[in-house]
Amino acid sequence: MGRSQSRGKSMSKKKSGEKLLIIPKQIITADPQDRIIKDKALEIIDGKIASFIQLNNYKKENYDEVVDARNLTLIPGFIQTHIHLSQTLFRGLAEDLPLLDWLRLKIFPFENAHNKESLRLTAQLSINELLMGGTTTFLDMGTLRYGEVVFSELINSGIRGFSGKCLIDINDLYPDFKSSTDDEIKDIMNLAKRFHNSADWRIRYSFSPRFVLSCSEKLLKETKEIMKDFPGSVYHTHSSESIDEINEVRKRFHKENIEYFNSIGVLDDHTVLAHCVHTSDIERKMLKDRDTKIAHCPSANLKLGSGVAPIPIYLKEGISVTLGADGAPCNNNLSIFNEMRMASLIQKPFNGTGSMDAKTVFRMATIEGAKALHLQDDVGSIEIGKKADLVLMDLDSYSNSYSDLDETIYSDIVFSSKTENVRSVMVDGKWLVKERESLAYDQREIISKGKEELKNLLKRL
Ligand SMILES: [Zn+2]
Repeated sequence: MGRSQSRGKSMSKKKSGEKLLIIPKQIITADPQDRIIKDKALEIIDGKIASFIQLNNYKKENYDEVVDARNLTLIPGFIQTHIHLSQTLFRGLAEDLPLLDWLRLKIFPFENAHNKESLRLTAQLSINELLMGGTTTFLDMGTLRYGEVVFSELINSGIRGFSGKCLIDINDLYPDFKSSTDDEIKDIMNLAKRFHNSADWRIRYSFSPRFVLSCSEKLLKETKEIMKDFPGSVYHTHSSESIDEINEVRKRFHKENIEYFNSIGVLDDHTVLAHCVHTSDIERKMLKDRDTKIAHCPSANLKLGSGVAPIPIYLKEGISVTLGADGAPCNNNLSIFNEMRMASLIQKPFNGTGSMDAKTVFRMATIEGAKALHLQDDVGSIEIGKKADLVLMDLDSYSNSYSDLDETIYSDIVFSSKTENVRSVMVDGKWLVKERESLAYDQREIISKGKEELKNLLKRL
């Protein structure tokens, strides 16, 4: 098997100086003023946003492509800050369990059974699903082995993302699924050197200790030190997800989870902690002081019965919060639309209907995501000079708002829309989804090969 499922390589490479014009109904910029621009087209040159052009002021012949999308809304590509590509193949196979049992009985044995081909298919299926739903950048947790397979899929698909080897050198839950501290360190050095900033800086490395119960202090600390040699990389781990987990952390370290991370010096503004459902006042102060980023995963937190994270408190305290679907087996979707809707609705019974309004949530899924990953100069909003990571949405379906007023646009995207409203998706100025057709993958082929690989993987358990 090889590259046959990926159309990425065969997609034509952009010519230097390529000019593209998109004429949408409106442009939701997510810029500092939250401008909504109407009656203007967006000019893209060499994959970058070059200018907003008056509609009566352009010549068709000046462009390599003019996309007439006057019935569609142009928005920035979505950014998800916590995803597990390696788990997508296991969707539907780990139901109704709390976190530690979910890992022990299902997810760790499944991940342990991956070979290169099953990992390749799970990465392809994940990237396809993310792109079809308008996600153009994501932070992946990786898995223990064959990290190079995931990177090659990232490179070939055209999507923007961070991945890295998932680090596990202690595993009381499933002892077969771990590596030695020295091997872990050797492997991440190799992978980070090979893939960080590859594909024109589209791909970055994330140092990814799984969670505190699966990593030695040596591994956590040395990884953070190594990270400093790879500017632009991030440190990505899980924290304070479930009560059973934090009780175990307390038993082992006599500290709260985030207090422990703080005590060993791994919290800073390049650290992204997934979940943070259960935190104390002291821990929140540490997150704020260190400018550590939180990846909020509302669907997963509900499905594993972990709880509802105190997001309005984090936001009030000025702590960065962004969104991620987490893994397909604890969601069971990778849709940013589900996460946006859920992030808002679950807070309202506790914090009032005014909490977590649609615009706040939309920004968490776009520009705030970019800031959390230190990509705000490149992506996250539609501003001149940024890379053209863009999504065209059809908001004229029977289940969308019938109003064309600016004040309804965010609720229309966050509460009424779903993946099917995404028409076309571009990363770096290159179409990866057009008119709901994936240009990155042959979808039927990867679904059928994915099913085959899953069958083979289950025989290896
Ligand atoms: Zn996770």
